[in-house]
Amino acid sequence: MNIDWIIGALGALIVSGAAYKKRSLSLSGMLAAFVMGTIYYGAGNLFWFGILLLFFVSSSVFSHFRGDRKAELEKSYAKSGRRDAGQVLANGGLGMLACLGNLFWPDPAWAYFFVGTMAAVTADTWATEWGGLSKSEPRSILNGRRVLPGTSGGVTLLGSAAALAGAVCIGGAAWLLRMWTGDDTYSEVGSALLAMVKWGLIGGISGLAGAFADSWLGATIQYMHRCVVCGKEIEVEEHCGRSTEHLRGFRWMDNDMVNLLSSLAAGLLAWGIGMIG
Ligand SMILES: [Zn+2]
Repeated sequence: MNIDWIIGALGALIVSGAAYKKRSLSLSGMLAAFVMGTIYYGAGNLFWFGILLLFFVSSSVFSHFRGDRKAELEKSYAKSGRRDAGQVLANGGLGMLACLGNLFWPDPAWAYFFVGTMAAVTADTWATEWGGLSKSEPRSILNGRRVLPGTSGGVTLLGSAAALAGAVCIGGAAWLLRMWTGDDTYSEVGSALLAMVKWGLIGGISGLAGAFADSWLGATIQYMHRCVVCGKEIEVEEHCGRSTEHLRGFRWMDNDMVNLLSSLAAGLLAWGIGMIG
């Protein structure tokens, strides 16, 4: 047995255990994150594990950020701040498959795809957390009209800037980590800098596209209810003390499914950009 699996399991146990104690993860979320982290390091290396960690730590930090203002918004969502196994798998499940794919059939294509999926979920999370603090009202991604904060498909300038920042961070981290692990080596500074631009573009373009795809799918096909009292569009079946009415979408097309689909699209886009560049 490879020592990397033991190191991975220990690292994953520390991170997921700490997140559980800090109430960022539910029990099922902690177990999923533990398995995921172990595979990311055991089957992969610090490149895979480090990207996952960057997503995970940054989202956890930002979600605690001015939590009082977000508490009201969260009542409209089906899930609370504690991530469960479904959310953990929606965010890191595709990356785990890519990591295993790369173990059996080594190819840089898996890394491009992986960075695209993680750039998208990071962009989406940063956009949600920072966009929630925006002073300007969100506008609908479908028609540009003003919508209530927290509405699926509502975008703000602050949220979009945060999405781009998160996406570029993942691309930049990929560049650094792959030099650290020796996955990528450069004989001169010029080619290393060119690769930095390439990874920044892969992360930035695919991550931003993924975050917008997430908003768009959230506004069109995601399972959604409307409160009969206050009129808010929400994911839950009860609001303002009354049962809510069904607005659109199938029950299985929940936020996790929308996340998974948009990160899949971002992964494929990143793979395409990576193969051209
Ligand atoms: Zn209501």
